[in-house]
Amino acid sequence: MSLGSNLIDRDRKHLWHPYTQMLTCPDPLPIARGEGVYLYTEDGRKILDGISSWWVNIHGHAHPKLNAALAAQARELEHVMFAGCTHRPAVELAERLVDVIPSGLNRIFYSDNGSTAVEVAIKMALQYWRNRGEPQRQTFITLHHAYHGDTVGAMSASEDSVFTRAFSRLLFPVVRAHAPYCYRCPLGLRRESCQMDCLGDLERSLKEHGGKIAAVLVEPMLQGVGGMIVWPAEFLAGVRALCDQHGVLMIADEVLTGFGRTGRMFACEHASISPDILCLSKALTAGYLPLGVTAATEAIYEAFLSQDRGKTFFHGHSYTANPLACAVAIASLDLFGESDVLGRIGRLENQLHASLDPLRTLPRVGDVRVIGGVGVVELQGDEGYLDQIGPRLTAAFLERGLLLRPLGNVLYFMPPYVITDLETEWAIGQIRTVLAGL
Ligand code: PLP
Repeated sequence: MSLGSNLIDRDRKHLWHPYTQMLTCPDPLPIARGEGVYLYTEDGRKILDGISSWWVNIHGHAHPKLNAALAAQARELEHVMFAGCTHRPAVELAERLVDVIPSGLNRIFYSDNGSTAVEVAIKMALQYWRNRGEPQRQTFITLHHAYHGDTVGAMSASEDSVFTRAFSRLLFPVVRAHAPYCYRCPLGLRRESCQMDCLGDLERSLKEHGGKIAAVLVEPMLQGVGGMIVWPAEFLAGVRALCDQHGVLMIADEVLTGFGRTGRMFACEHASISPDILCLSKALTAGYLPLGVTAATEAIYEAFLSQDRGKTFFHGHSYTANPLACAVAIASLDLFGESDVLGRIGRLENQLHASLDPLRTLPRVGDVRVIGGVGVVELQGDEGYLDQIGPRLTAAFLERGLLLRPLGNVLYFMPPYVITDLETEWAIGQIRTVLAGL
């Protein structure tokens, strides 16, 4: 093919891809179409999407019902600004969400991706205290290994890492507390015998910084980008209890975990808790369109009601509550109702346990973790995200028709829920073979 007509050549001429070292990266995959769990390339390859296209896809690519919902909405209203206007898809989605998210969260604020859902939560928490006459509460407690997004506020809340270091001058300080990373326990303890001692760090931080804390922000049950760290539910219950004891807000970032990923509709359900603020995105639209939600309690909403316009929440994006995205999100919730999606995730979880647990005996495997539809194999090594094993593994799996993108030495499999037992068996077989060959 001549230069210029080839898609890769044209891509290389003008594009700049995220999370990609353009000088050394292999050519991007030229994806022509998707169907179910498969992606099809322009040059005729069929590739199983083993990471749900960065964790967003849940019902499979090009789902007929989601396609139809999108097309129907496009015929009615593609977009209108959401300040001073409203529309049926936004209202209906808010009602549907309030019915399924953890109880007490009655107010839905829309934005347009996971990072902005977190930015909104941070700003909302800060202004909540200010509007209530406690402006000194300006500090956030977040956890080690946290990842909350790539915008400045979300990066500030995230762990100091290769993702944030170049921007450190821009970031505001937060107090960081231990995460329950049992494989690399920050206290050197063992889960079988510990008393969830790592929670003590959060408790100390709350005591020390007391009245200055606005909120504690966590990724409940599964810290994603920081290494696919699966929590004991007791830790999550402990975070809620400590926030209550110290009178601070709890923010749950369920951008990754929401909509079934951890086996429950929302990860907070594992500990039967409700946060004060909840962040959602990714699977909210089943992988179709960008949309963010920050849900809050009525008490938080009420702190913004005033004759004083200065107490308004001045945050909004051009595409806030985009009707196309809302319509697809509603159709995705319909699919949860129409078939036993959570039951399917439960069976996937069992299969992941049965097939991944035996990999612990492989020489380079350090830990195996499974929660809901997520299977994780952490390889030994201390280099984190920049560990060269990551790109090597990606290339090896791609050759076999499986799209995986390890976080350095942390390999994970997170397929759309519609994957069949047979397809799962095949994918895990590839993982077993490649890891055995290391
Ligand atoms: N929060 C969590 C827990 C995430 O995993 C991510 C993305 O991976 C984000 C926030 C940011 O979402 P987005 O990439 O849509 O900005």
